[in-house]
Amino acid sequence: MEQERIVKLKDFFDFDSKEPINRLAYTEEDMEYKIKIIEKMKALGMQITLDKAGNICGTISIGNHPQKTIAIGSHTDSVYNGGQFDGPVGVIVGLQVAENLIKSKKCTGIIKVAIYACEESSRFGNACLGSKYLNGTITEKDFSSIVDQNALKQGKTVTLQEAIDFANSYLKEHVDGIQEVDKIFDTVDYSLEAHIEQYDSLKKAYKKNQQDTVGIINSIGSAVRIKYDVEGQANHTGSTPMKKRKNAVDATAFIGKKVRKLGKRYEKQGLGRASQVEINTPGHNGSFNQIPNQANGLIDFRLLGENTPENVLEDFENIKQQVEAKTKTKITTKVVSQGTPVVTSHFLNQKLNQICNHKGIQSIEMPSYPGQDTGYIPAKEKTMIFIPSTGGSHNPKEHTKKKFIQPATTLFTQLSRELLVERFKDAQKVSSTPKSTYASSHIPTTKVSSRGTPDENVLG
Ligand SMILES: [Zn+2]
Repeated sequence: MEQERIVKLKDFFDFDSKEPINRLAYTEEDMEYKIKIIEKMKALGMQITLDKAGNICGTISIGNHPQKTIAIGSHTDSVYNGGQFDGPVGVIVGLQVAENLIKSKKCTGIIKVAIYACEESSRFGNACLGSKYLNGTITEKDFSSIVDQNALKQGKTVTLQEAIDFANSYLKEHVDGIQEVDKIFDTVDYSLEAHIEQYDSLKKAYKKNQQDTVGIINSIGSAVRIKYDVEGQANHTGSTPMKKRKNAVDATAFIGKKVRKLGKRYEKQGLGRASQVEINTPGHNGSFNQIPNQANGLIDFRLLGENTPENVLEDFENIKQQVEAKTKTKITTKVVSQGTPVVTSHFLNQKLNQICNHKGIQSIEMPSYPGQDTGYIPAKEKTMIFIPSTGGSHNPKEHTKKKFIQPATTLFTQLSRELLVERFKDAQKVSSTPKSTYASSHIPTTKVSSRGTPDENVLG
Protein backbone atom coordinates (compact mmCIF):
# COMPACT_ATOMS: atom_id res chain seq x y z
CA MET A 1 0.00 0.00 0.00
CA GLU A 2 1.26 3.47 -0.84
CA GLN A 3 2.37 5.50 2.14
CA GLU A 4 0.27 8.52 2.97
CA ARG A 5 1.84 11.85 2.05
CA ILE A 6 3.15 13.96 4.91
CA VAL A 7 2.92 17.23 2.97
CA LYS A 8 -0.53 17.86 1.54
CA LEU A 9 -1.59 20.99 -0.31
CA LYS A 10 -4.89 21.10 1.54
CA ASP A 11 -3.06 21.64 4.85
CA PHE A 12 -1.82 24.98 3.54
CA PHE A 13 -4.34 26.21 0.97
CA ASP A 14 -8.10 26.57 0.88
CA PHE A 15 -8.74 26.30 -2.86
CA ASP A 16 -12.34 27.48 -2.41
CA SER A 17 -11.54 30.64 -0.47
CA LYS A 18 -10.92 34.14 -1.81
CA GLU A 19 -10.55 35.75 1.62
CA PRO A 20 -7.83 38.41 1.73
CA ILE A 21 -4.55 37.38 3.37
CA ASN A 22 -2.74 39.86 5.61
CA ARG A 23 0.38 37.94 6.44
CA LEU A 24 2.81 40.82 6.65
CA ALA A 25 6.45 39.89 7.18
CA TYR A 26 7.54 39.12 10.75
CA THR A 27 4.03 39.45 12.19
CA GLU A 28 2.32 36.85 14.35
CA GLU A 29 0.25 35.74 11.30
CA ASP A 30 3.42 35.13 9.31
CA MET A 31 5.03 33.24 12.19
CA GLU A 32 1.97 31.04 12.76
CA TYR A 33 2.02 30.00 9.09
CA LYS A 34 5.74 29.32 9.31
CA ILE A 35 5.21 27.15 12.40
CA LYS A 36 2.84 24.96 10.37
CA ILE A 37 5.59 24.54 7.78
CA ILE A 38 8.24 23.85 10.42
CA GLU A 39 6.06 21.06 11.82
CA LYS A 40 6.07 19.40 8.40
CA MET A 41 9.84 19.88 8.11
CA LYS A 42 10.21 18.09 11.43
CA ALA A 43 7.85 15.31 10.32
CA LEU A 44 10.16 14.81 7.33
CA GLY A 45 13.11 14.48 9.71
CA MET A 46 14.67 17.84 8.86
CA GLN A 47 16.91 19.92 11.14
CA ILE A 48 15.55 23.44 11.57
CA THR A 49 17.74 26.52 11.48
CA LEU A 50 16.77 30.16 11.92
CA ASP A 51 19.08 33.01 11.00
CA LYS A 52 19.59 36.63 12.01
CA ALA A 53 17.31 37.93 9.25
CA GLY A 54 14.52 35.50 10.14
CA ASN A 55 15.19 33.09 7.25
CA ILE A 56 14.18 29.54 8.15
CA CYS A 57 15.57 26.34 6.70
CA GLY A 58 14.81 22.65 7.06
CA THR A 59 17.82 20.50 6.15
CA ILE A 60 18.09 16.78 5.53
CA SER A 61 20.95 14.72 4.24
CA ILE A 62 20.00 11.73 2.15
CA GLY A 63 22.10 8.81 0.89
CA ASN A 64 25.76 8.16 1.52
CA HIS A 65 28.50 10.76 1.33
CA PRO A 66 26.29 13.65 0.25
CA GLN A 67 28.20 16.37 -1.51
CA LYS A 68 25.83 18.56 -3.46
CA THR A 69 23.28 20.80 -1.81
CA ILE A 70 19.97 21.85 -3.31
CA ALA A 71 17.88 24.64 -1.77
CA ILE A 72 14.23 24.88 -2.75
CA GLY A 73 12.04 27.58 -1.30
CA SER A 74 10.23 30.87 -1.46
CA HIS A 75 8.47 33.23 0.94
CA THR A 76 5.36 33.14 3.12
CA ASP A 77 4.76 36.85 3.76
CA SER A 78 2.03 38.64 1.80
CA VAL A 79 1.13 42.19 0.85
CA TYR A 80 -1.80 43.97 2.55
CA ASN A 81 -4.98 42.22 1.37
CA GLY A 82 -3.02 39.73 -0.68
CA GLY A 83 -3.77 36.22 -1.87
CA GLN A 84 -2.95 32.72 -0.60
CA PHE A 85 -0.54 31.50 -3.22
CA ASP A 86 2.11 34.09 -4.04
CA GLY A 87 5.06 32.76 -2.10
CA PRO A 88 3.80 29.80 -0.05
CA VAL A 89 3.34 27.64 -3.17
CA GLY A 90 7.12 27.68 -3.65
CA VAL A 91 7.76 26.58 -0.07
CA ILE A 92 5.18 23.79 -0.12
CA VAL A 93 6.51 22.54 -3.48
CA GLY A 94 9.94 22.45 -1.79
CA LEU A 95 8.54 20.32 1.04
CA GLN A 96 6.87 17.93 -1.40
CA VAL A 97 10.06 17.56 -3.42
CA ALA A 98 11.98 16.84 -0.21
CA GLU A 99 9.40 14.22 0.76
CA ASN A 100 9.67 12.56 -2.67
CA LEU A 101 13.46 12.48 -2.55
CA ILE A 102 13.56 11.17 1.02
CA LYS A 103 11.13 8.39 0.20
CA SER A 104 12.63 7.38 -3.15
CA LYS A 105 16.16 6.83 -1.74
CA LYS A 106 17.56 7.08 -5.28
CA CYS A 107 20.07 9.85 -4.82
CA THR A 108 22.48 11.31 -2.36
CA GLY A 109 22.70 14.93 -1.36
CA ILE A 110 21.66 17.61 1.07
CA ILE A 111 18.16 19.01 0.63
CA LYS A 112 17.28 22.37 2.11
CA VAL A 113 13.75 23.71 2.12
CA ALA A 114 13.98 27.43 2.76
CA ILE A 115 11.51 30.12 3.80
CA TYR A 116 13.09 33.40 2.80
CA ALA A 117 12.04 36.24 5.11
CA CYS A 118 10.21 39.38 4.01
CA GLU A 119 10.04 39.09 0.22
CA GLU A 120 7.29 41.67 -0.19
CA SER A 121 8.17 45.35 0.08
CA SER A 122 4.77 46.18 1.66
CA ARG A 123 6.03 46.50 5.20
CA PHE A 124 9.57 47.89 4.94
CA GLY A 125 9.51 49.49 1.48
CA ASN A 126 12.30 47.13 0.43
CA ALA A 127 11.81 43.69 -1.12
CA CYS A 128 13.59 40.33 -0.71
CA LEU A 129 15.21 41.29 2.59
CA GLY A 130 15.92 37.71 3.69
CA SER A 131 17.55 36.68 0.43
CA LYS A 132 19.43 40.00 0.17
CA TYR A 133 20.84 39.25 3.62
CA LEU A 134 22.01 35.83 2.39
CA ASN A 135 24.07 37.29 -0.44
CA GLY A 136 25.28 40.28 1.56
CA THR A 137 23.34 43.00 -0.32
CA ILE A 138 22.14 44.02 3.13
CA THR A 139 23.86 43.26 6.42
CA GLU A 140 22.85 43.16 10.08
CA LYS A 141 24.02 46.76 10.40
CA ASP A 142 21.27 47.87 7.99
CA PHE A 143 18.52 46.30 10.12
CA SER A 144 18.24 49.35 12.41
CA SER A 145 17.93 51.87 9.60
CA ILE A 146 15.15 50.10 7.63
CA VAL A 147 11.76 50.98 9.14
CA ASP A 148 8.15 49.80 8.91
CA GLN A 149 6.55 52.24 6.46
CA ASN A 150 3.01 51.74 7.70
CA ALA A 151 3.95 52.23 11.35
CA LEU A 152 5.74 55.40 10.28
CA LYS A 153 2.53 56.80 8.80
CA GLN A 154 0.93 56.26 12.21
CA GLY A 155 3.76 58.14 13.90
CA LYS A 156 5.53 55.04 15.27
CA THR A 157 9.01 53.78 14.50
CA VAL A 158 9.48 50.03 14.17
CA THR A 159 12.85 49.03 12.81
CA LEU A 160 13.53 45.89 10.81
CA GLN A 161 15.73 44.74 13.71
CA GLU A 162 12.81 45.07 16.14
CA ALA A 163 10.51 43.18 13.77
CA ILE A 164 13.06 40.35 13.37
CA ASP A 165 13.59 40.20 17.15
CA PHE A 166 9.84 39.83 17.66
CA ALA A 167 9.53 37.15 14.98
CA ASN A 168 12.54 35.10 16.04
CA SER A 169 11.55 35.21 19.74
CA TYR A 170 8.02 34.16 18.80
CA LEU A 171 9.33 31.14 16.94
CA LYS A 172 11.72 30.09 19.70
CA GLU A 173 8.92 30.40 22.23
CA HIS A 174 6.50 28.26 20.21
CA VAL A 175 8.76 25.66 18.56
CA ASP A 176 11.35 23.36 20.11
CA GLY A 177 14.63 22.36 18.58
CA ILE A 178 15.32 25.43 16.44
CA GLN A 179 19.01 26.04 15.95
CA GLU A 180 20.05 29.68 15.65
CA VAL A 181 22.69 30.46 13.03
CA ASP A 182 24.14 33.59 11.41
CA LYS A 183 22.87 32.57 7.97
CA ILE A 184 20.78 29.56 6.97
CA PHE A 185 23.46 28.93 4.33
CA ASP A 186 26.44 30.75 2.85
CA THR A 187 26.11 29.14 -0.53
CA VAL A 188 24.44 26.13 -2.14
CA ASP A 189 25.11 24.25 -5.37
CA TYR A 190 21.59 24.65 -6.75
CA SER A 191 18.69 26.93 -5.87
CA LEU A 192 15.16 26.32 -7.16
CA GLU A 193 11.95 28.28 -6.68
CA ALA A 194 8.39 27.81 -7.93
CA HIS A 195 6.09 30.83 -7.99
CA ILE A 196 2.77 32.05 -9.34
CA GLU A 197 3.27 35.19 -11.42
CA GLN A 198 2.65 36.78 -14.83
CA TYR A 199 -0.47 34.72 -15.41
CA ASP A 200 -1.16 36.62 -18.64
CA SER A 201 1.90 35.16 -20.38
CA LEU A 202 1.02 31.64 -19.27
CA LYS A 203 -2.61 32.09 -20.31
CA LYS A 204 -1.41 33.16 -23.75
CA ALA A 205 0.78 30.04 -23.89
CA TYR A 206 -2.19 27.92 -22.82
CA LYS A 207 -4.29 29.32 -25.65
CA LYS A 208 -1.54 28.62 -28.13
CA ASN A 209 -0.65 25.12 -26.88
CA GLN A 210 -4.15 24.10 -25.75
CA GLN A 211 -2.40 22.70 -22.70
CA ASP A 212 -1.48 24.03 -19.26
CA THR A 213 1.97 25.51 -19.55
CA VAL A 214 4.69 26.19 -17.00
CA GLY A 215 7.16 29.06 -17.44
CA ILE A 216 10.87 28.30 -17.17
CA ILE A 217 12.47 31.55 -16.09
CA ASN A 218 15.52 32.57 -18.09
CA SER A 219 16.05 35.98 -16.57
CA ILE A 220 14.96 37.83 -13.41
CA GLY A 221 14.39 41.53 -13.74
CA SER A 222 15.99 44.36 -11.81
CA ALA A 223 15.12 48.02 -11.47
CA VAL A 224 17.00 51.20 -12.31
CA ARG A 225 15.22 54.26 -10.94
CA ILE A 226 16.04 57.81 -11.82
CA LYS A 227 14.82 61.11 -10.39
CA TYR A 228 15.26 64.17 -12.56
CA ASP A 229 14.88 67.92 -12.06
CA VAL A 230 14.26 70.39 -14.87
CA GLU A 231 15.31 74.02 -14.58
CA GLY A 232 13.47 76.25 -17.08
CA GLN A 233 12.53 79.92 -17.01
CA ALA A 234 9.29 81.46 -15.76
CA ASN A 235 7.69 83.90 -18.19
CA HIS A 236 4.38 85.09 -19.58
CA THR A 237 2.62 82.39 -21.62
CA GLY A 238 1.11 85.01 -23.91
CA SER A 239 4.01 87.33 -24.56
CA THR A 240 6.91 84.82 -24.87
CA PRO A 241 7.58 83.67 -28.46
CA MET A 242 7.51 79.88 -28.90
CA LYS A 243 11.17 79.79 -29.88
CA LYS A 244 12.26 81.66 -26.75
CA ARG A 245 10.42 79.75 -24.08
CA LYS A 246 12.11 77.38 -21.60
CA ASN A 247 9.11 75.44 -20.41
CA ALA A 248 10.03 72.88 -17.71
CA VAL A 249 6.75 70.98 -18.21
CA ASP A 250 7.43 70.63 -21.94
CA ALA A 251 10.65 68.87 -20.99
CA THR A 252 8.77 66.32 -18.86
CA ALA A 253 6.41 65.66 -21.78
CA PHE A 254 9.29 65.01 -24.18
CA ILE A 255 11.00 62.80 -21.61
CA GLY A 256 7.79 60.77 -21.21
CA LYS A 257 7.46 60.27 -24.93
CA LYS A 258 11.07 59.21 -25.40
CA VAL A 259 11.06 56.94 -22.35
CA ARG A 260 7.97 55.19 -23.70
CA LYS A 261 9.68 54.66 -27.04
CA LEU A 262 12.79 53.32 -25.32
CA GLY A 263 10.63 50.98 -23.18
CA LYS A 264 9.02 49.58 -26.31
CA ARG A 265 12.41 48.99 -27.88
CA TYR A 266 13.69 47.24 -24.74
CA GLU A 267 10.58 45.06 -24.63
CA LYS A 268 10.97 44.04 -28.25
CA GLN A 269 14.61 43.12 -27.66
CA GLY A 270 13.87 41.25 -24.42
CA LEU A 271 15.79 43.89 -22.46
CA GLY A 272 13.03 45.18 -20.18
CA ARG A 273 10.53 48.02 -20.00
CA ALA A 274 10.51 51.71 -19.05
CA SER A 275 7.96 54.09 -17.58
CA GLN A 276 7.70 57.67 -16.43
CA VAL A 277 5.80 57.28 -13.16
CA GLU A 278 5.51 60.78 -11.69
CA ILE A 279 5.69 64.46 -12.66
CA ASN A 280 5.62 67.45 -10.30
CA THR A 281 5.76 71.20 -10.91
CA PRO A 282 7.05 72.68 -7.67
CA GLY A 283 6.55 76.42 -7.19
CA HIS A 284 3.98 76.68 -9.97
CA ASN A 285 0.49 77.33 -8.70
CA GLY A 286 -1.29 76.35 -11.87
CA SER A 287 -1.80 79.82 -13.28
CA PHE A 288 -2.50 79.71 -17.01
CA ASN A 289 -0.44 82.75 -17.83
CA GLN A 290 2.87 81.59 -16.40
CA ILE A 291 5.42 79.30 -18.03
CA PRO A 292 6.61 76.87 -15.32
CA ASN A 293 10.30 77.14 -14.55
CA GLN A 294 10.65 73.95 -12.54
CA ALA A 295 9.53 70.36 -12.90
CA ASN A 296 10.68 66.98 -11.73
CA GLY A 297 9.82 63.39 -12.43
CA LEU A 298 10.54 59.76 -11.70
CA ILE A 299 11.50 57.10 -14.22
CA ASP A 300 11.29 53.37 -13.52
CA PHE A 301 13.31 51.05 -15.76
CA ARG A 302 12.82 47.29 -15.55
CA LEU A 303 15.86 45.50 -16.87
CA LEU A 304 16.04 41.99 -18.23
CA GLY A 305 18.55 39.62 -19.79
CA GLU A 306 21.80 41.22 -20.86
CA ASN A 307 20.67 44.78 -20.17
CA THR A 308 22.85 46.61 -17.65
CA PRO A 309 22.38 49.72 -15.50
CA GLU A 310 25.26 51.33 -17.43
CA ASN A 311 23.43 50.81 -20.71
CA VAL A 312 20.20 52.26 -19.30
CA LEU A 313 21.96 55.29 -17.81
CA GLU A 314 23.61 55.94 -21.15
CA ASP A 315 20.27 55.70 -22.97
CA PHE A 316 18.67 58.10 -20.50
CA GLU A 317 21.61 60.50 -20.79
CA ASN A 318 20.94 60.67 -24.54
CA ILE A 319 17.27 61.41 -23.91
CA LYS A 320 18.23 64.09 -21.41
CA GLN A 321 20.58 65.83 -23.83
CA GLN A 322 18.05 65.77 -26.68
CA VAL A 323 15.33 67.21 -24.44
CA GLU A 324 17.64 69.89 -23.05
CA ALA A 325 18.50 70.99 -26.59
CA LYS A 326 14.88 70.97 -27.68
CA THR A 327 13.43 72.80 -24.68
CA LYS A 328 16.44 74.98 -23.74
CA THR A 329 16.20 73.72 -20.17
CA LYS A 330 18.77 72.28 -17.79
CA ILE A 331 18.12 68.77 -16.49
CA THR A 332 19.89 67.16 -13.55
CA THR A 333 19.46 63.49 -12.70
CA LYS A 334 19.90 61.32 -9.64
CA VAL A 335 20.00 57.53 -9.76
CA VAL A 336 18.06 56.25 -6.74
CA SER A 337 18.51 52.55 -7.34
CA GLN A 338 20.32 50.39 -9.82
CA GLY A 339 20.24 46.63 -10.01
CA THR A 340 21.57 44.24 -12.60
CA PRO A 341 19.22 41.56 -13.94
CA VAL A 342 20.00 37.96 -13.16
CA VAL A 343 20.34 35.46 -15.97
CA THR A 344 19.34 32.05 -14.59
CA SER A 345 21.24 28.82 -15.22
CA HIS A 346 21.14 27.72 -18.84
CA PHE A 347 22.22 24.29 -17.65
CA LEU A 348 19.27 23.88 -15.27
CA ASN A 349 16.79 25.33 -17.77
CA GLN A 350 17.95 22.93 -20.45
CA LYS A 351 17.45 20.04 -18.05
CA LEU A 352 13.99 21.33 -17.12
CA ASN A 353 13.06 21.53 -20.80
CA GLN A 354 14.19 17.93 -21.33
CA ILE A 355 12.20 16.75 -18.32
CA CYS A 356 9.13 18.63 -19.59
CA ASN A 357 9.43 16.89 -22.96
CA HIS A 358 9.90 13.54 -21.32
CA LYS A 359 6.95 13.96 -18.93
CA GLY A 360 4.63 15.59 -21.46
CA ILE A 361 4.53 18.88 -19.55
CA GLN A 362 4.15 21.93 -21.79
CA SER A 363 6.64 24.74 -21.05
CA ILE A 364 7.84 28.09 -22.34
CA GLU A 365 10.99 30.01 -21.53
CA MET A 366 10.11 33.45 -20.22
CA PRO A 367 11.55 36.22 -18.06
CA SER A 368 10.34 37.33 -14.64
CA TYR A 369 9.90 41.07 -14.83
CA PRO A 370 9.59 41.49 -11.05
CA GLY A 371 12.59 40.83 -8.82
CA GLN A 372 12.51 37.52 -6.96
CA ASP A 373 14.28 35.92 -4.00
CA THR A 374 16.03 33.62 -6.49
CA GLY A 375 17.85 36.65 -7.88
CA TYR A 376 19.72 37.03 -4.58
CA ILE A 377 20.21 33.43 -3.44
CA PRO A 378 23.92 32.61 -3.30
CA ALA A 379 23.98 29.49 -5.48
CA LYS A 380 26.28 28.16 -8.18
CA GLU A 381 23.28 27.42 -10.42
CA LYS A 382 19.78 28.74 -9.97
CA THR A 383 16.48 28.95 -11.71
CA MET A 384 12.76 29.21 -11.12
CA ILE A 385 9.48 28.19 -12.68
CA PHE A 386 6.18 30.03 -12.89
CA ILE A 387 3.04 27.97 -12.54
CA PRO A 388 -0.30 28.93 -14.07
CA SER A 389 -2.71 30.98 -11.99
CA THR A 390 -5.69 33.24 -12.42
CA GLY A 391 -6.73 36.57 -10.96
CA GLY A 392 -3.27 38.16 -11.09
CA SER A 393 -1.29 38.27 -7.85
CA HIS A 394 -1.06 40.49 -4.76
CA ASN A 395 -4.87 40.45 -4.38
CA PRO A 396 -7.39 38.04 -2.80
CA LYS A 397 -8.52 36.77 -6.20
CA GLU A 398 -5.13 35.29 -7.06
CA HIS A 399 -5.77 31.62 -7.49
CA THR A 400 -4.20 28.42 -8.73
CA LYS A 401 -5.17 24.76 -8.77
CA LYS A 402 -3.70 21.52 -7.47
CA LYS A 403 -3.26 20.35 -11.05
CA PHE A 404 -1.07 23.42 -11.75
CA ILE A 405 1.09 22.98 -8.64
CA GLN A 406 1.64 19.26 -9.24
CA PRO A 407 3.84 19.69 -12.36
CA ALA A 408 6.15 22.01 -10.39
CA THR A 409 6.69 19.29 -7.78
CA THR A 410 7.21 16.68 -10.51
CA LEU A 411 9.70 18.86 -12.39
CA PHE A 412 11.78 19.81 -9.35
CA THR A 413 11.75 16.25 -7.99
CA GLN A 414 13.06 14.89 -11.29
CA LEU A 415 15.55 17.72 -11.70
CA SER A 416 16.89 17.19 -8.17
CA ARG A 417 17.19 13.45 -8.81
CA GLU A 418 19.18 14.06 -11.97
CA LEU A 419 21.44 16.58 -10.26
CA LEU A 420 22.10 14.21 -7.39
CA VAL A 421 22.03 10.84 -9.13
CA GLU A 422 25.62 11.03 -10.40
CA ARG A 423 26.73 11.81 -6.90
CA PHE A 424 24.80 8.74 -5.78
CA LYS A 425 26.68 6.55 -8.26
CA ASP A 426 29.96 8.17 -7.24
CA ALA A 427 29.22 7.63 -3.59
CA GLN A 428 28.38 3.99 -4.22
CA LYS A 429 31.66 3.52 -6.04
CA VAL A 430 33.49 5.35 -3.29
CA SER A 431 31.87 3.50 -0.42
CA SER A 432 33.16 0.21 -1.86
CA THR A 433 36.73 1.52 -1.93
CA PRO A 434 39.05 1.81 1.11
CA LYS A 435 38.57 4.90 3.26
CA SER A 436 42.06 6.23 2.57
CA THR A 437 41.32 6.36 -1.15
CA TYR A 438 38.14 8.23 -0.46
CA ALA A 439 39.98 10.73 1.66
CA SER A 440 42.55 11.34 -1.05
CA SER A 441 39.98 12.98 -3.30
CA HIS A 442 39.39 9.93 -5.40
CA ILE A 443 35.78 10.95 -5.89
CA PRO A 444 35.07 11.64 -9.56
CA THR A 445 33.81 15.16 -9.76
CA THR A 446 30.97 16.10 -12.02
CA LYS A 447 31.81 19.40 -13.59
CA VAL A 448 28.80 21.63 -13.86
CA SER A 449 28.91 24.47 -16.29
CA SER A 450 26.47 27.31 -16.50
CA ARG A 451 26.48 26.91 -20.29
CA GLY A 452 25.58 23.57 -21.79
CA THR A 453 25.42 20.12 -20.23
CA PRO A 454 28.91 18.72 -20.08
CA ASP A 455 27.99 15.91 -17.74
CA GLU A 456 25.12 13.51 -17.46
CA ASN A 457 21.92 13.49 -19.39
CA VAL A 458 19.88 11.23 -17.20
CA LEU A 459 16.18 11.22 -17.65
CA GLY A 460 15.49 8.29 -15.34
ZN1 LIG B 1 6.10 36.32 -4.25
